[in-house]
Amino acid sequence: MKLFKSLVNLLFPRVCAACGNILLEGEDSVCTTCRFLLPKTGYENNPDNPLAQMFYGQMPFNAVMAEFFFSKTGKVQHLIHGLKYHHCRENGIFLGQEIGKSLLKAPDYQGIDFIIPIPLHPKKEKLRGYNQSLVIAEGIHEIMNVPIAEKSLVRSVFTNTQTKKSREERYQNVKDIFELKKPEQLQGKHVLLVDDVLTTGATLMSAGKALLHAEGIKISVATVACASN
Ligand SMILES: [Zn+2]
Repeated sequence: MKLFKSLVNLLFPRVCAACGNILLEGEDSVCTTCRFLLPKTGYENNPDNPLAQMFYGQMPFNAVMAEFFFSKTGKVQHLIHGLKYHHCRENGIFLGQEIGKSLLKAPDYQGIDFIIPIPLHPKKEKLRGYNQSLVIAEGIHEIMNVPIAEKSLVRSVFTNTQTKKSREERYQNVKDIFELKKPEQLQGKHVLLVDDVLTTGATLMSAGKALLHAEGIKISVATVACASN
């Protein structure tokens, strides 16, 4: 079996999902060099970071972070793209694990009761095969050992892609598209809201507003990537 595995590796070498170099024995999905070089933001330890500033006055929250900056080399983008459009679930697990490792050490992210991935509309999830935010949440769960509340937040309205819209259009496009089921379940809980990318924050804020129907809820936000500024 071991020989067979070695032979398969020789014929079909496993490559790093970020840089495409051949993975060495003991390396998994992303090579050691990339793990070292991917640009971390450190925002989890900076309560007043630019993303938090974006949320001020928009919704009450506890903390906001992104794990990585979009890199000049495009590696972070490549990982997310693979996750969203090429069925590379392992990318999402890796990215989630990286978030989890950072949050374990961050004072503002202690005592989390539930991880809540931003839901896709069921129609879109069917098309994609899975919800990429849920896969990231699974990676976080593996490290932090916090349960995922997958069914509490639902997306009730189908929206078109946000990418070509202006800031204002984005806010209008996602306004009131989320619904919180059984708000009593999250009453007084600290939840970690998870998404892949944070650009304007419109989607996260809309989801956050739905979550606020749970009395006394404390919302922290964690995403994979944001633009560097
Ligand atoms: Zn690599």
